[in-house]
This record gives sequence, C-alpha cells and structure tokens, in this order.
Amino acid sequence: MFDVVVIGSGPAGYVAAIRASQLGLKTLCIEELSNDKGKPNFGGTCLNVGCIPSKSLLDSSHRYYDAKKNLSDHGIQLGDVKLDLKTMMERKDNIVSKLTGGIDGLFLTNKVESICGKGKVISKNTVQIDKADGSSEKVDAKNIIIATGSSPIEIPAASFGKHIVDSTGALAFDSVPKRLGVVGAGIIGLELGSVWSRLGSEVTVLEALEDFLPMTDTDISKESLKEFKKQGLDIQLASKVTSTKELKNLVKVKYEQKGKEIEVEFDKLIVAVGRKPNSEKVLPKNLGIKIENGFIQVNEYCQTSVENIWAVGDVVRGPMLAHKGSEEGIMVAERIANKQAEVNYDLVPNVIYSHPEIAWVGKNENELKSSGIKYKVGKFPFAASGRALAVDQSVGFVKVISDEKTDSILGVHVFGPAAAEIVQQALISMEFGSSAEDIALTMFSHPTVSEAFHEAALSVNNQAIHIGNKK
Ligand code: FAD
Ligand code: NAD
Repeated sequence: MFDVVVIGSGPAGYVAAIRASQLGLKTLCIEELSNDKGKPNFGGTCLNVGCIPSKSLLDSSHRYYDAKKNLSDHGIQLGDVKLDLKTMMERKDNIVSKLTGGIDGLFLTNKVESICGKGKVISKNTVQIDKADGSSEKVDAKNIIIATGSSPIEIPAASFGKHIVDSTGALAFDSVPKRLGVVGAGIIGLELGSVWSRLGSEVTVLEALEDFLPMTDTDISKESLKEFKKQGLDIQLASKVTSTKELKNLVKVKYEQKGKEIEVEFDKLIVAVGRKPNSEKVLPKNLGIKIENGFIQVNEYCQTSVENIWAVGDVVRGPMLAHKGSEEGIMVAERIANKQAEVNYDLVPNVIYSHPEIAWVGKNENELKSSGIKYKVGKFPFAASGRALAVDQSVGFVKVISDEKTDSILGVHVFGPAAAEIVQQALISMEFGSSAEDIALTMFSHPTVSEAFHEAALSVNNQAIHIGNKK
C-alpha cells in the first residue's frame, strides 16, 4: 500500500511526489510517456515541449537576431551571420534531456518510486496502470494525486496535419518557414511567433478577439502591440479562421475580418488557441467527482469531493502555469502529511517571454475599476533608466498600483528588460504586505533596471526623482 500515488510527472506531479516522499510518505509516480529505454520520461509538458524548449529557442533566436541586427550599433562587426538551425535545435534538445533526466536523479535521492504506464483511478483506494505492452497492474493508495496536465486545443477550422501544427510541432521545424501563420495571439502565439520571426519568417498572427492581450493591463496591451508590430509580427485582430486547406507544400487559410473573407497562404500554420485539461478516463463515474469543461473540480486545497483524491496543475481551475502547479503539488503533499499548507492564488506571477518581456502580478486598473476599489498609480519609463539605456533596452515601463487609502501594493505591471525578475521582487514585497512607500524607502543598487520599480513606487506618491510627478 502506498501512502501517495501521483498520476503524471509534470511540474505539478513530480514536485508533489518529491515533497510527499520528503515528508516520509511512501510515494509512487506514474508517467505515461516513455523514453527510448522504455523508462518513464518525466517532466511533462513544461520540460519536454513547453517552458524549457520554448525558452531555449527564445534565447537562441534572440542572440541570432541581435548579432544580425543590433551588435553593429555597439561597434561590433561580425560579417555574415549565418543560422545553423540544426545546432540550435540540438542545443534545445540537450537541455530538455538534461532536465528530464535530472528528475530520475531527484526521484532516486528522494526515494520516489516510479512506473511507466497510463494511470487511472478505479476505486477510492486503487489505481490501475495500463502498460505499453498491453499488460496492466493495480496499486493500492491511501491518497491519490491526479496531475495529468493539459493538451493543445484543436479547432475544426484548422485540424492538425503536415503543415498545420500545435506548439509541439512549432518547437521542431527543420527549416525556417518563409511565410508562417499563427492562429491565436496568446502567450504561445506571441512567444513562438517571435522565435520564428527572429529567425527570418514573415509572421502573420490571426487573433479572434478585438482586444490584444485582454488579460494584461491596458497600457501593456497598447505598448506591447506597437512593439510586436515594430518587430515585424503582422498581428490581425478580430480575425476568425473559417477554413484551412493543406496542399503539398503550403496551407491555404480563409479568415473573416469585419464581415470580409480574406484568403492567405502560409508554408506552416501554428494553432495556439489554448489548452484543454487531460481528464478523460482518469476517474470512474461512480465516485461522483465532478468534471466541468474538462477541469476536475476541487476546493481551494485541491481536494476533490472524495477526501483522499486530489488534483493539481493544469487539470484543475486557475492559470495553466508550471509554478502554479508546483505550488499546488507541494500544498497537497503537505496537507496529506497533516500540515496546514495553502496557495495564495491572489499572487500568481505571469510572464510572457517576448523581447522585451511582459510580466505582472496582482490586479490591473480595469479589474480594480470594475470592483470599485480606489487606487493610485505610479509609472516609470525605462527610457529614463540609465541601465536600460546602457544595455539597449529602453522600451517599456514599470507601473505600480496601490490602494488609495492604505497605499498597499495591489498590482505591479512591467513591460521591459528583466520584467519577470522585477515582478518577482514586487511579488515578494506584496506577500509581506508592502506599501508603495515601503518600496520607495528601500535602497536599490545603481545602475540596475530594478531602479525603475523603485522610481515607479516613488511616483505613486508623487516623489519620483528622475521623471516629472503628477500635480
Ligand atoms: P503537464 O506538464 O502537462 O504534465 C502532465 C504529465 O502527465 C505528462 O507528462 C503526461 O504524459 C502525464 N499523463 C497524462 N495522463 C496520464 C495518465 N493517465 N497516466 C500517466 N501519466 C499521464 N508555463 C509556465 O509557467 N512558464 C512558461 O514559460 C511556460 N511555457 C510554456 C510553453 C509552451 C509551448 C507550452 C505548451 C506550455 C508552457 N507553459 C508554461 C505551461 C506549462 O507547461 C504547464 O502549465 C505545466 O506543464 C502544467 O504542469 P502539469 O504538471 O499540470 O501538467
Ligand atoms: P492563450 O489562452 O494564452 O491564448 C489563446 C489565444 O487564442 C487567445 O488570445 C484567444 O482569444 C485566441 N483564440 C482562441 N480561439 C481562436 C480562434 N478560433 N481563432 C483565433 N484566435 C483564437 O493560450 P495559448 O497561447 O495556447 O497557451 C496555452 C496556455 O499555456 C496559456 O494559458 C498559458 O497558461 C500557458 N503558457 C504559458 C507561458 C508562459 O508562462 N510564458 C508560455 C506558453 C504557454
């Protein structure tokens, strides 16, 4: 009998398994994917086909673009810069192998047992594992954690095929498509669209909504749209793909925009319109655990209506982010070990790894207006930051929003260099209940791009030094 059986080894599942074992619980992790040795291939979407390979290609493509377009401004002449896509892809694959293999080592040192196969709950305390060779095995569990993750959504107007691919296909093109279409101007569309645009593709992004990045602060949405367009991404809003046709070497796409039908041709089309939870056939109906729109229903502690069955990560409500899943995994392992852990869902950081980065935490102005909360705003442009100018990254700003009366920080929104790291500093301060004045009274190293956070916090109370203040 295991104390804990985890189904799925993505950032939610493998982290839950390690924490459970650290807490002295006998733990098994089941993973469906296998590697070339027939052993479980750990890491889930994040390590294999998500966060890590995409960030690896974002970095490589940025270096290539910089070398080709920007280094001469620094007095560095490189001559003819050439792309070796095969080496770029091999580098990405090596990073993925290193990290997924690293989980083998972590499981070993933390005494987590593992097995390769498709897991499904068949009763309150039993999980069945169906293996690739057709055999199956049952294990008994005091607690079960479902961490089966999510998969790309396919739309009828653009079924996946040879030239129409999901994010996984878009991380593995063997040549740079001359004309690349992207359906969906969401996080994946913008990150992977940027990768291929920097490597030379003419990229057109077709987004169904009229608003660009509606989940971001309006200032970020406006400024980043301008910047993406400047970088060469042709972003078509209010554009709904109605049909596609794959031909031998290209794909024809029809889309509707303001009542007009437009036809375009691409060499490749990436469909990035969101992801759906992997909840099919994981739970038996007779346990009565609800599944809505594919999401396994859980309470704030990720516990289902059956007290010893838990679900974490992309398969439950909330943003589909690796760090959110990992924190849920840790919380559940600790609750199983009778500890009082919880996740602060109000402070989940969000990052889009474009160049410059977009990152935010907490509430934006629209959200505060619609909930009737009175607030103050301080904003500082990177154009006024000495370090940002010195490192050639002076686009964007930091925006700090605090409560009108108490000055508690309610949200921080950054478009610019090291946005993710600045937002992380903001998040830590918010966890400790910081006011804008607390940040204003904190010393920041000079010259750093983080000083823009300091100045934005000063600006909330009209005390900025390096820009004019509101009257
Ligand atoms: P997953 O990572 O999807 O893992 C689930 C695992 O369960 C898989 O290994 C799967 O094979 C296994 N499994 C499924 N069903 C079964 C079963 N029945 N039995 C056994 N095993 C099963 N998030 C970020 O925070 N930052 C980023 O920069 C970022 N970039 C991304 C880039 C891309 C291109 C994509 C696609 C996603 C990105 N994400 C990012 C999202 C992130 O990858 C997910 O939020 C995260 O992986 C979810 O973790 P998870 O453990 O819930 O599920
Ligand atoms: P998304 O929800 O971010 O964006 C999907 C976009 O597609 C939306 O703008 C939506 O309006 C649009 N859309 C939907 N249907 C459409 C249609 N038929 N035609 C045109 N546009 C359409 O989803 P995603 O980009 O696929 O990413 C999936 C998830 O992966 C995200 O929710 C995110 O949580 C995660 N992710 C995170 C990161 C990161 O943290 N940096 C990176 C990549 C992915």
